[in-house]
Amino acid sequence: MSTVAAISTAQGQGGIGIIRISGKDSFTIADKIFKSVSKKKVQDIPGYTALFGYVYKDKEIIDEAVVLKFAAPKSFTGENVVEISCHGGLYVTKEVLSAVISAGAEPAGPGEFTKRAYLNGKMDLTEAESVMDIISAKSKSAARAALYVKEGVLYKKSQEIKELLLDKAAHLSAWADYPEEDIPEISYSSISDAINTSIETLEKLLSTYNAGQVIKEGIDTVIVGRPNAGKSTLMNLLAGREKSIVTSIAGTTRDVVEDTVLVGNVLLNLSDTAGIRETDNEIEKIGVKKTFERIHSCGLVIALFDCSQKLNKEDMALIDEIKNIPSVAVINKTDLKNRLDSDYIEKNIKNVVYISAKNQHNIDELKEIIEKITGTEDFDPSAGVIANERQRDAVSKALSSLYEAKNAMELGMTMDAITVSFQETIDFLLELTGESAGEEIVDKVFHNFCVGK
Ligand code: GDP
Repeated sequence: MSTVAAISTAQGQGGIGIIRISGKDSFTIADKIFKSVSKKKVQDIPGYTALFGYVYKDKEIIDEAVVLKFAAPKSFTGENVVEISCHGGLYVTKEVLSAVISAGAEPAGPGEFTKRAYLNGKMDLTEAESVMDIISAKSKSAARAALYVKEGVLYKKSQEIKELLLDKAAHLSAWADYPEEDIPEISYSSISDAINTSIETLEKLLSTYNAGQVIKEGIDTVIVGRPNAGKSTLMNLLAGREKSIVTSIAGTTRDVVEDTVLVGNVLLNLSDTAGIRETDNEIEKIGVKKTFERIHSCGLVIALFDCSQKLNKEDMALIDEIKNIPSVAVINKTDLKNRLDSDYIEKNIKNVVYISAKNQHNIDELKEIIEKITGTEDFDPSAGVIANERQRDAVSKALSSLYEAKNAMELGMTMDAITVSFQETIDFLLELTGESAGEEIVDKVFHNFCVGK
């Protein structure tokens, strides 16, 4: 395999920038462009040590730098790796990379370092995928979930099931193939236990997918309610800063305002709307139409009602619109005298919470309800989370094969049929961890990575 190089830190200005080289010629390439103050060569020093010196291109000094050496297999990629830490400017890092390329390295492709780590057996495919998730995590929960996968929770779970099924399958085959040997017949209940335990583990894993997506990508959330209900105030409160224009003149918020806020475990991609009142104003009509579209395409609706006002036609229309979609009715302005028929709302909408946005009263309860609706309240990152569609697909196929095995048992089919289903389950688990994933799948996984990782 060739020796590759890329800038591994973010492109832009920073205290330091790191150029990473990986492959068997890393040390000699580094020695061609780097002269240490101590006159030592990268080739000659032990792994996990550093040299200070200068990077040269065409005999000219580009920058001062620290070079770190990692000798195979004790490196991220499992190959010889050199990391050159120089000043973190765009120009300097590019110049150092260009010197490294001139000295014989090839530019690394997207995710090439992680791909090499995977190909060299340093990590399985789920762990490799989590590297990208760690980098792109926008919240503590997302980062922690990715970190646990990086530490191998998915791999370990899959390994446990694989071993359990392999043990039973081997026993079944031996028993069927060598009837003359004295292999004890395997009990019905021990096979059935293995199937049920595996099903339980995989079902649990599969159920983490939706919560995991919400935690990773956030959930598209619309705040809706009639003008002056307090939408902008609530949104600003959740976002923790002024964004929408808060005024007491009805109809101020015409455009959709986008913001991303972290509510407990959940990232909400918020948009404020124009409300859904009847209007003859053409511009407002467009806003109202947009609101309807958003209500039906988003993942969560936060519907605001002003408790100092009676429910009107517009409120009724809103209640009717959202009663069958994931939503929370927020009855606002509880600091004012109540004139609202809240029973009607409670009867139609499952989740109702009473707040005063102005006094910031009961906001925590609202946050808890949001976590409950999005299924993230009991989110346990350490239990392993299915992070993407590829993993979900492999796990659900493995699960289908197990259901088939269970069915075959219950129908009293031959042990052969069960062994075949076990083998299929194992194949899908091998696909999950990448132990037998095709080149196409592997390429697709790393295609989404950035260069330098
Ligand atoms: P929007 O049109 O739904 O976005 O409503 P705004 O957030 O602009 O709020 C309209 C008016 O209601 C403003 O004067 C707010 O200060 C006021 N308001 C918002 N929340 C509360 C509340 O909980 N109690 C009281 N008394 N006033 C509130």
